[in-house]
Amino acid sequence: MENKRKPYQLVSREWKKEDTVISLKNTTIGGNNVCLIAGPCAVENEDQIFTICEFLSKKNIKLLRGGAYKPRTSPYSFQGLKKDGLILMRQAADKYGMGVVTEVMETNLVDEVYQYADILQVGTRNMQNYQLLRALSKIDKPILLKRGMSSTLEEWLLAAEYILSGGNEKVILCERGIRTFETATRNTLDLSIIPLVKALSHLPIIADPSQGTGIRELVTPMSMAAIVAGADGIMVEVHNHPEEALSDGPQSLYFDQFAHLMEKVEQSAHFNNRAVDYAVDSRLVY
Ligand code: PEP
Ligand code: MN
Repeated sequence: MENKRKPYQLVSREWKKEDTVISLKNTTIGGNNVCLIAGPCAVENEDQIFTICEFLSKKNIKLLRGGAYKPRTSPYSFQGLKKDGLILMRQAADKYGMGVVTEVMETNLVDEVYQYADILQVGTRNMQNYQLLRALSKIDKPILLKRGMSSTLEEWLLAAEYILSGGNEKVILCERGIRTFETATRNTLDLSIIPLVKALSHLPIIADPSQGTGIRELVTPMSMAAIVAGADGIMVEVHNHPEEALSDGPQSLYFDQFAHLMEKVEQSAHFNNRAVDYAVDSRLVY
């Protein structure tokens, strides 16, 4: 890679050679481990989140995703259950021994979301909300920093630098697709950024092929491709009734599709001599 001076520092490989590995109660992100984060786009009601969470826990999935505060393109779309959604998600995750990954949209919600989440997600629309990034730099929980849909690699790494420079080193980058001229897919999942990020930064990077493609049939092949490209994990949307989902139904996997994805992700991880965090054979778990 070219050797000109980078505008970011703490996130760079020059600053820290070894991969950052983030430890959670029940899994790790980074290192030899490939993690699989799954759940609905949004928490919709008690039955939905408990059903999905029970299914995922039986599959040995460690991290439940789901939005309680939803950034929707239209103000008329379902905006999430807000605090009630956080409570339901926490209850479901605790019942089944899972961790919670959920989005924090505003600075004044950091304290509230912190109480219920194990990983706080910054959405694509907020990647350059510097006030929010600063607030998240002061907490001690990991931050899942999505790439802005029109952000360059440098802007993304500088957003991560805000969090590290404020004192929080637990940042997970997430490639979720960028805006291009192509409209056949919802976004263009930029897989070439994955090995580039791994070369330039010590931070773990995962891919979100659900937002990245918008089409459930594409989620498994793009998950495999992301893992083979070196991603440290995958975040996908799965729903008990995708056709009735209140958000992102067309990109949400059916349960049987999710089971198939798990096999394919595991094969892809083994291809890179890595282990998945849901492996039943614990010898394979990092
Ligand atoms: C999501 O994960 O459901 C989401 C809204 O993500 P993004 O910010 O990448 O669009
Ligand atoms: Mn979504």
